[in-house]
Amino acid sequence: MINEAAARKLDSEDILAHVRERFVIPEGTIYLDGNSLGLLTYAAQERVSKTVSEEWGQDLITSWNAHQWIDLPLRVGDRIGKLVGATAGQVACCDSISVNLTKALVAALSVQNARGERRHKVLSTVDNFPTDLYMVQGLQDLLGKGNCELKLVEEKSLSSELNDDVAVLLVTEVNFRTGRRLPIAELTRLAHDNNILVIVDLAHSAGAMPVCLDEWQVDFAVGCTYKYLNGGPGAPAFVYAAERHHANIKQPLRGWMGHAQPFAFTNDYEPAAGIRQFLAGTPPVIAMVAVEGALTAFDQVDLKDVRDKSLRLARLFHDLLHDAGLTQMLQCIAPEQEAQRGSQLAYAFDHAYGLCQALIERGVIADFRAPNYIRFGFTPLYTSYHEIWLAVQIIRDVIATEDHLDARWQQRNAVT
Ligand SMILES: *Cc1c(COP(=O)(O)O)cnc(C)c1O
Repeated sequence: MINEAAARKLDSEDILAHVRERFVIPEGTIYLDGNSLGLLTYAAQERVSKTVSEEWGQDLITSWNAHQWIDLPLRVGDRIGKLVGATAGQVACCDSISVNLTKALVAALSVQNARGERRHKVLSTVDNFPTDLYMVQGLQDLLGKGNCELKLVEEKSLSSELNDDVAVLLVTEVNFRTGRRLPIAELTRLAHDNNILVIVDLAHSAGAMPVCLDEWQVDFAVGCTYKYLNGGPGAPAFVYAAERHHANIKQPLRGWMGHAQPFAFTNDYEPAAGIRQFLAGTPPVIAMVAVEGALTAFDQVDLKDVRDKSLRLARLFHDLLHDAGLTQMLQCIAPEQEAQRGSQLAYAFDHAYGLCQALIERGVIADFRAPNYIRFGFTPLYTSYHEIWLAVQIIRDVIATEDHLDARWQQRNAVT
């Protein structure tokens, strides 16, 4: 059984412990929700403040050149690329996952068309993140089922459904509810054996574990920067397109920023070469410098160490809950095998919403996901082992005092 001193000892031996100093940590808060919105970094705070006061405030429009605002989407994209195993020129930082996914889906279908393939099925999983499925449904309505048709299967049947009917496999590496991690390298290999293109959503992977897009031969990927990359609320997302596809892509959202010569102002669209063709409109400069600043938190950090610590934090959390006799009441829904887990643990519990609210009131921030799950995210850059120990003491206390049953938690907030 691990006691407080033992938890502190783990922190003293933690090679990532110093990285915590790069983050603004609110007093009295144990933040186990970095999988929804990462903490603010000092670097992002400084970058935003300088950009607003000096670059916008003083240099105004000259900043597009003088401070290279115009290069932000691809410069930040390359930086994200390093964290997801992509060499330069294949990642752009722009828009949201939802919008980037639409671009990637149509691009993938257009590559299949260019190959002369008459396939239109998009295969995904029943419990994929809803926005991903909504975007495919929207395209299905727009293009007609004969050109784009969503087919949903259980995660475990994915590999047996990869046949020559399928145009695109669309999967999220780490399931947002259960935390199950899919074997992307293996699925990509199987998909390619059947000439299927692969789009991966990295929302819960980027910044949480090593990702090897180039090595795995993934075709397209999307991800967000406000979760484990700490880019800030509503920070722009990213899109990856493997270089081998760049010449054959038709990207449907043809904005001027993706034009070969945006400032020629010609009437006819001509796509820029490379990943730039994925840009649509003007980049949100302030949000993008926040992302650029935040990414410095990963300087000299090895994602293998991040993954290692993430699994250790989760293991400690679950073992402590078990020692406290709470794992009967809170049913862990994560896979047994650690290799199949992301960087979170979710538990089914009838009073998950009340528990979550009672914990927030005591400074432990977790989140609730319908219908009855409480999720705890582990963010190795700033979460300490001692915090995990404390969090479990507080959970035990809430349950012992039945605070989670309080009448105040009968009404749900707009954002859960
Ligand atoms: C958080 C998340 C999103 C969010 O999409 P946005 O359009 O950027 O809001 C999409 N997919 C998954 C798997 C997510 O976890």
